[in-house]
Amino acid sequence: ALIASRALEITLTSRDCGNGNRAAMCGVPFHKADLYIGNLVEQGFKVAICEQTEDPSQAVGLVKREVIREITPGTVTDGELLNGGKNNYLAAMYFAKNGIGLAFADISTGQVSATHIYGDNVYNRAQTELGIYTPRELITNISKKDFAPIADFLENKVGCLISDSRGDLFSLAEIARVREVFGDEADSASEAALYATGAIMGYIQQTQMCNTSFVKSLNVYTDGQYMQLDLNTRRNLELTETMRQKDKKGSLLWVLDKTKTAMGARLLRSFIVKPLLNPAIILSRQASVGDFVSDTILRGELRERLSPILDLERLMAKVVYQTANAKDLKAICQSISLLPEIKALISSSNAQTVKGSYKDLDTLSDIHELLDNAIIENPPYSLREGNMIRSGYNADVDYLRSIHENGKAWVDEIEAKEREASGIKTLKVGYNKVFGYYIEVTKSLIDQVPDRYIRKQTLSNCERYITEELKDMESTVLGAEDKLCALEFSLFCEIRSAIAKEAPRIQATASAIAELDVYLSLAEVATKNNYVCPEISLSGDVIIKDGRHPVVEKYVSDSYFVPNDTEFDSGKNRLMLITGPNMAGKSTYMRQVALIVLMAQMGSYVPASEAKIGIVDRIFTRVGASDDLASGQSTFMLEMNEVAEILKNATKDSLIIYDEVGRGTSTYDGMSIARAVVEYTNSKIKAKTMFATHYHELTSMEGEYEGIVNYNITAKKKGDTITFLRRVVRGAADESYGIEVAKLAGVPNEIVKRAKEILSGIESGEVATEKPHRREREIEEPLDMISMLYDSQAREVVDKLRRLDINVLTPIEAMNIIYDIKKEIGNE
Ligand code: ADP
Ligand code: MG
Repeated sequence: ALIASRALEITLTSRDCGNGNRAAMCGVPFHKADLYIGNLVEQGFKVAICEQTEDPSQAVGLVKREVIREITPGTVTDGELLNGGKNNYLAAMYFAKNGIGLAFADISTGQVSATHIYGDNVYNRAQTELGIYTPRELITNISKKDFAPIADFLENKVGCLISDSRGDLFSLAEIARVREVFGDEADSASEAALYATGAIMGYIQQTQMCNTSFVKSLNVYTDGQYMQLDLNTRRNLELTETMRQKDKKGSLLWVLDKTKTAMGARLLRSFIVKPLLNPAIILSRQASVGDFVSDTILRGELRERLSPILDLERLMAKVVYQTANAKDLKAICQSISLLPEIKALISSSNAQTVKGSYKDLDTLSDIHELLDNAIIENPPYSLREGNMIRSGYNADVDYLRSIHENGKAWVDEIEAKEREASGIKTLKVGYNKVFGYYIEVTKSLIDQVPDRYIRKQTLSNCERYITEELKDMESTVLGAEDKLCALEFSLFCEIRSAIAKEAPRIQATASAIAELDVYLSLAEVATKNNYVCPEISLSGDVIIKDGRHPVVEKYVSDSYFVPNDTEFDSGKNRLMLITGPNMAGKSTYMRQVALIVLMAQMGSYVPASEAKIGIVDRIFTRVGASDDLASGQSTFMLEMNEVAEILKNATKDSLIIYDEVGRGTSTYDGMSIARAVVEYTNSKIKAKTMFATHYHELTSMEGEYEGIVNYNITAKKKGDTITFLRRVVRGAADESYGIEVAKLAGVPNEIVKRAKEILSGIESGEVATEKPHRREREIEEPLDMISMLYDSQAREVVDKLRRLDINVLTPIEAMNIIYDIKKEIGNE
């Protein structure tokens, strides 16, 4: 009570609990419990649900109560508490002698994925896996302090609740169960993976307090099956959310997601964060997308029929864990009603690949028939008040209902008879929950009431009576109603269990629908956005003609997004050294290449006029001098951290993007680091690399080292002003145009002029640059910056500051505002 009242901001009360003590208590309305449970789980609490487990009317003494379920962040099954477009993962991590076993389950979909990480870099790779799944909760056999860096990553970056030292869950008994449940699927799993899977099963059983028969499919994989994308790269490339606002809008997912169902949306997200390495699978996805690209009409008709399909996977989880009500069953019924039409559309089409994969689609017609016959059109939320079962489904229900209906006729009949007999014309027969049926007579007429009436209740202007006859009728009708409610409830539970038994079939159909939805979405996007089907190769070459950035092109749609070519091979063209003024489009270009490669490997079409993609094993990025505010590390430290990770993990099959590496420190430090990184990456790692830099000095490396090729993004200078052409061309940029960009950004003429003088001084050797100040960045930024800017800009900033209400700002918001202001005044 003490903790919950604080967490939920509800009143803390107390109650006498004997011996002069008071027990703390707090409570929430029963019908709003879900909301509060969701809130607690969101905050990382585990919630135990206790209920009375025997009928209070039968109980002797205290009614028996038990914990019936535990709700934890990783085991939520209620769709309303979950984000429909996102899987909610529970993870288990088993530290074994020979590496780490990992298992991930979305218990609302009944699928478990398991892997065993061994060999080099075990911790690092495990962290990458955890970063891909971003579980809400993790169970593990060792203590948190024994894997502190990963634990810290999970708690602070992923927002994951850790239950550590749960050795009890990782047992041979659980492994035996895994083998029993999954059979063949478990054969390919190593012992470490089995331990992790077993722990997941055990934990689900423990929290849901019912059997885990729902968990039916086990996907054993190796981390070598998918392109590895660390959390940094995912964030930098803005795959599922933007870096700054954490919005879906502005991310790759936002562009690609035209799915119609929640299941499709979740699958598409997993396609994006787990691109493939196996060309055969990529090609088969491409073929499915291709089927729908070429048949616009079929695509439109199928998408229309997917629209009304609700989240079958999560509805089924509620069925299996017995929290589904009649509305949920009706939702399943309605969702599967369109399956036969979908199947027919596909089978009569020319979509060759899809036709093959969907010829055995289980349309679940028996389940539809059962639900359609059993449940009425618009059932209530409550399971205990009847009104769920359709007439004609069960003879007893129909009979009890007829008594109830007759009850109404009896009331009318008795009312008419009593009016006649007593002569009281205004006499009424009524009903309320407390007193049951009664005859009501206004006060002024009570002396006409017959003797056989028994007084029951006195109100201010009338009296209420009962008669023997009314009592008899009451017990028949009310008895029938109670019986009806109980019967409907037990029939409902039977139906729910019958549906639960079919869970594997329904889940299989649900995942087929999810896939269909994803292919349709990718085809829709490919057509609308003018993408092409990339050629997939193992040659190591990446050749893109007229490539575009899938997201930026959406934002510049009013002007024109300039397409650019890319040519990489594993030999003489493996490192693109890209120079060009600020704002030229370097960062955009590099990300565009990374995104095109990634899209190709997820099986999507790509924004280009032609593309040949040699499969890459990983994409690494070190993009922009963005500050990681939340983690409290300095920009430079973080930058070097990321570079170190790349250098440690990249292979010759990787694609690396370095954006302005070395910017966070003094010029000479930075340049030296940048050069050393280029050398190492090019000569030792030999990965396909794009390196954007404002250090012109590096361009001399072309020719000195095989593999390095200079590129620049052009700008045209006319007098003092520049125009960006956004064209990537061979060769080094001739100038950095920094001063022109400063002018464009509104720095006053006086400064621009003076900067030019200083520049020509440096170039001619008159101004000393021999002893760079170690803390140059700080003195680069004079304090009276604002006064030097154009008045209008200064005013805007001052106004912005005035409007701020400091009292309601969080520190992070404050940092973000300062960041925005710095960006506005061209100081980022
Ligand atoms: P840089 O990294 O060279 O400073 P950015 O990549 O950040 O430049 O690009 C700056 C802006 O230029 C982008 O936000 C985008 O609006 C625009 N831009 C970049 N590339 C293109 C392009 N190919 N076509 C049209 N606009 C572009
Ligand atoms: Mg940039």
